[in-house]
Amino acid sequence: MCRACADGRQKAILGTMSQMPSVQLKPKEDTRIRGGHPWIYDNEIAAINGNPSPGSEVVVRDSRGKQLGYALFNPASKIQARIFSRTSSRADTAFFIQAFQESLAWRARFFDLEKASFRAVFGEADSVPGLIVDLFNGKSASDGRHGRWLSAQFLSLGVDQRKSNIIEALQKVFKPAGIMERSDAPVRKLEGLEDSTGILSGSVPDSIIIEENGLAFSVDLLGGQKTGWFLDQRANRAAAARYAKGRQVADIFCNQGGFGILCAAKGAASVVCVDSSNEALKAVQENADRNACADRVTTLSANAFDQLRTFEKEGKKFDMVILDPPAFAKSRSSIPQAYRGYKEINVRALRLLNKGGILVTCSCSHWFDDALFDKMLLEAAFDCGKRFRTIEERSQDLDHPIVSGYQESRYLKVRIVEIL
Ligand code: SAH
Repeated sequence: MCRACADGRQKAILGTMSQMPSVQLKPKEDTRIRGGHPWIYDNEIAAINGNPSPGSEVVVRDSRGKQLGYALFNPASKIQARIFSRTSSRADTAFFIQAFQESLAWRARFFDLEKASFRAVFGEADSVPGLIVDLFNGKSASDGRHGRWLSAQFLSLGVDQRKSNIIEALQKVFKPAGIMERSDAPVRKLEGLEDSTGILSGSVPDSIIIEENGLAFSVDLLGGQKTGWFLDQRANRAAAARYAKGRQVADIFCNQGGFGILCAAKGAASVVCVDSSNEALKAVQENADRNACADRVTTLSANAFDQLRTFEKEGKKFDMVILDPPAFAKSRSSIPQAYRGYKEINVRALRLLNKGGILVTCSCSHWFDDALFDKMLLEAAFDCGKRFRTIEERSQDLDHPIVSGYQESRYLKVRIVEIL
């Protein structure tokens, strides 16, 4: 490029940048942002300059005017700006392509990209605030056709507005046969968005069969919970199943049997799967058949709190109990109530176990951090007069990266303990 052209381009870039509206922080509010956190809350903002339209790019500045990064603006949300880059000013198709290529390169280090199913984009932790994309390699349950399908959640205004750029970038990087939208999560309301579900591109079978830990599981991309399958527990299921041989197992909050069926396949004497969703339990039975372990798997449709109490009343004992509840703490204010909920199910599960029994206990709420979870578990054991040895302390699988400065990305806690 000649000198004059280069100067002209430089001027054009500077021109765009100076025109870009900005969000200026109050003094001291920049520390968390400099540490890597991508969210700017409404009460941290001193001034909004240049009248940005909802969903548009804004420059984020500290109280002295120093530039911190570029964010997508949403005046309707408590999180008024979400930083998508510290260097690129536009969240356009080219930006998404680069972000997706980087997220894919990370997964390629751990997963077989042609065979595995994995979370392909994990929102802020992959630099695309509010976008969740799960990738399923598998075959159609109805016609056996092999393919790759995506299930996407657009959970912020910024990515919702850029749906067409994102679809284009997803197609280019992941080359799916179809993309399903599952933007039916409650957090959409906090962004001022209605639910939205359906096929975004190509075609998506009603049900697909994926392979995980050597077994086959059905995934319903439209009707299943969240994106259809809880991929974050993949490695934890394998870890838990290592202890299952010969044991009587209770898989509480089983969803489609990700833990329980693997335990059965690895030699558990019996597995009872408990969930309040009848659709999930239907899938458990199908998955048990599919993996030739239906003779040892039974399902119970019940509220887990009630069922744990019933087991106790009946004098039922297990050698292994798995607790994988939904997030009980959905906000800071609900932490005390969540603590009581987690403690109750853990106390009840511990009472069902004798010496040598294994408890696999999980919490997927980022509000409920590791320290609190461990404190709860200790108290639960103390309250029922039991002690335990911790065998494994685990978190989410590697396709849900944990990034520094954004503590919300560290959300899953799993403890595997043995009763002493
Ligand atoms: N363990 C599962 C994921 C569990 S997700 C896996 O490995 O895939 C949480 C599950 O808890 C959901 O299937 C939901 O239907 C169920 N659930 C939520 N509240 C419940 C309750 N009170 N009693 C029983 N099941 C409940």
